[in-house]
Amino acid sequence: MFGLPVLNRILAPPPGEGVIPQFTNHIVTQDFWSTFPTLAVAIPFLFICGFVTVYFLGSKGFCTYACPYGGFFAVADKVAVGRIRVTDACDQCGFCTATCTSNVIVHAEVREHGMVVDPGCMKCMDCVSVCPTNALYYGFGKPSLGTANKVKKTFSLTWPEEIGAAVFFLLSLYAVWDTYQLIPMLLALALAGITTFVAWRTYRLFVSNDLSLYQFNLKNGGKVTRAGSIFLVLSLVWLGLTAHSGWIRYHEWQGANAFEAIDLPDEVALAQANPVQWLSPADKQNIAAGRTHFSTARNNGLFTNVQALSKLAWLEYLGGDAGKATDTLADASAHEHGAAKALADYYRGAILNRTGKHAEAITSLDAALKERPDLTLALEQKGEALWSLGRQKDAFDTWSQAVRENPNLPLATSFLAGAAKAAGDDALASNFQARANQLTPNDPLFHFMLGMRLKAAGMDDLADQHFARAIEMNPRFKAAKRS
Ligand code: SF4
Ligand code: SF4
Repeated sequence: MFGLPVLNRILAPPPGEGVIPQFTNHIVTQDFWSTFPTLAVAIPFLFICGFVTVYFLGSKGFCTYACPYGGFFAVADKVAVGRIRVTDACDQCGFCTATCTSNVIVHAEVREHGMVVDPGCMKCMDCVSVCPTNALYYGFGKPSLGTANKVKKTFSLTWPEEIGAAVFFLLSLYAVWDTYQLIPMLLALALAGITTFVAWRTYRLFVSNDLSLYQFNLKNGGKVTRAGSIFLVLSLVWLGLTAHSGWIRYHEWQGANAFEAIDLPDEVALAQANPVQWLSPADKQNIAAGRTHFSTARNNGLFTNVQALSKLAWLEYLGGDAGKATDTLADASAHEHGAAKALADYYRGAILNRTGKHAEAITSLDAALKERPDLTLALEQKGEALWSLGRQKDAFDTWSQAVRENPNLPLATSFLAGAAKAAGDDALASNFQARANQLTPNDPLFHFMLGMRLKAAGMDDLADQHFARAIEMNPRFKAAKRS
């Protein structure tokens, strides 16, 4: 888990990096809290993983049933030389087994093997501390590899129930993991463990004559008790919520699939108010399907999935509904902060710019720049909005700021060339133009995008040069230019 990325980096280092990566200091961080979940996630996380799993699955329930590291450690445990071992002082009283909360049959394992071989042993030392004869100790010796455990455990679930529980666990894990972009993996694993336990007890409530849950008697002689009725109602609510999360998750997943299947660069789509001419029939189908799925998730979800909201907005824009897209992005921005908010505001500003609402665009782009002052895309768009409003000097300054942030921007440099030309400074214009030509990728789509952006700013001469270049490289752009 930790070694593979390192190995991958050594075998396929990023371009420009040697076999031994450059030393970088990550001991100190300026943004300590950014790696922590929000309070809205942290509090339920602590409650579910810290209390509810302990109640339902035992004090080591999370470690035993949910923690993904257990699978790796079980393999490592086979070769571990440090184990719980026994001396001749053991009189088989069984205190150790009664104390172990990892379901290890300690007294029998030490009798058969002289040590604990169950990989579920967490070396917590509880058994060592309760042994009345001090027979147990943690010591080094031969590992358990190759030792077949002769101690057979008895289990609460039959094999069909085990399989049913495993399927239920995976389904409920899928239902809650990352739903609404809120539930992290470990919390999802804990929830899936609890859901599986609750479903299993509910199933038993129907098929058993007698059933209890800790001190509560749920069913007695075939009759469901008052506690059993309350348990049944609560369990149906819990299972219903899980099913609802799964349904939302399904729509978010399908929406994301449709979103990913659209192969149109953002900058090309944003180069004109209605990007429909760039869309293939398959793209249009994906846009319609994605909008349906994301809208279903949005309208029926219990919380707002901001990432899904931004994707929905993009599909609305691609579908020709720019007004709806800007409303959805405003909603996404209101729920976001930091870089994600900056992007929502940037896209909103860009769409407003394309639809001629330049003053509103500036407000939105300023909000993006407040979160991310280095967002040069927002500076380029803001310059266009200012230019369209006749504020040429402010536009020139804004594009200059973008180029200061990143000197390799072909679009901002082209705008500066157009602005210098409009101001009558031909020498400066040709300097900027020469620099822009150096920076512009030799890609017809990029030239066409530049042409459209320059044309929208009224810089027709420059725009025509890029249209001509795009058509020269790919004559199909002739038709695109006409439309
Ligand atoms: S508690 Fe000690 S004496 Fe009793 S069975 Fe376990 S190891 Fe043996
Ligand atoms: S060390 Fe802890 S987990 Fe291991 S057998 Fe003893 S009580 Fe159980």
